[in-house]
Amino acid sequence: MARRRWEPLHRSLCAVVREEPRPAERRARAVDGEPARARLSTASWERPRGIVHLVGAGPGDPDLLTLRAVRLMREAEVVVYDYLVSDAILGFLNPRAERIYAGKRQGRHMLSQDEINHLLFALARRGRRVLRLKGGDPFVFGRGGEEAEFLASRGVPFEVVPGVTSASGAAAYAGIPLTHRDRARAVVFVTGHLKDGSCDLDWPMLARPRQTVVIYMGVTRVAEICGQLVAHGLDPATPAAVIEKATTPSQRVVAATVGSLPEAAAAAAVKPPALIVIGEVVALRESLDRELASVSGSERSRAAA
Ligand code: SAH
Repeated sequence: MARRRWEPLHRSLCAVVREEPRPAERRARAVDGEPARARLSTASWERPRGIVHLVGAGPGDPDLLTLRAVRLMREAEVVVYDYLVSDAILGFLNPRAERIYAGKRQGRHMLSQDEINHLLFALARRGRRVLRLKGGDPFVFGRGGEEAEFLASRGVPFEVVPGVTSASGAAAYAGIPLTHRDRARAVVFVTGHLKDGSCDLDWPMLARPRQTVVIYMGVTRVAEICGQLVAHGLDPATPAAVIEKATTPSQRVVAATVGSLPEAAAAAAVKPPALIVIGEVVALRESLDRELASVSGSERSRAAA
């Protein structure tokens, strides 16, 4: 995959990047009842302006892309994409599109969030149609909100295209309904990784029964998370699972209980990207998992073991 370095481009754009918004641009805001999309009346004397499409690429399986995402990928002039966007998905890009990789390499971010914000702004100000491609849904733990805020505050037209968030993709492919009339009346999405590196969650709220808790970015802290939930009153026998690389051909599901999940995940050497799912609904997997359900009788009990 061509992961083009962005530095030369960024250097050349530095002068544009720090410009303050013009008064007319400050008025650009999303309109009620329509997708978040900044609007601008462009007077004829203004130079041609670009747009940023903040697009969710889903959790991995290209079949989960929206039609709008595919259309925009085919038309893209320049794409800024994250590490969670798979090669299979990048295959839909216009082959002439310039590719800028903003994701991680060896655990380190290639670009800081501030640099990404400025890069998107600078490209759009140059009149480019920018595809900002993000894993899952751009507004679910993807920092899409920060990017949209930055663009809106500078009057850059933008559009947000939702994607299948990894919790939905993982749940569907692993056979775990996120809500269920008898088992979970609520579902909570939380991140196990806070800005300052800590994992300071609302444990009494998360330990409540009859709900499903999905933890993004938490797999490296699975022992701490399960330990805190039990310490705050969650039954250690509550079903729990880790789902790694959900919806891709390498998807793995490690199912256990809250009490035994840390050990099971360590034994399976689970790595990010992965989600932790906790709640009674996880027990339904034995009958609903695509792969387990496609085998029968004794084969199924072996596969489930
Ligand atoms: N916007 C994304 C989330 C970005 S945060 C979304 O809506 O899904 C990154 C975290 O998402 C990862 O650490 C992991 O917890 C989760 N994630 C993303 N893709 C995943 C996948 N294919 N399988 C499992 N977890 C995934």
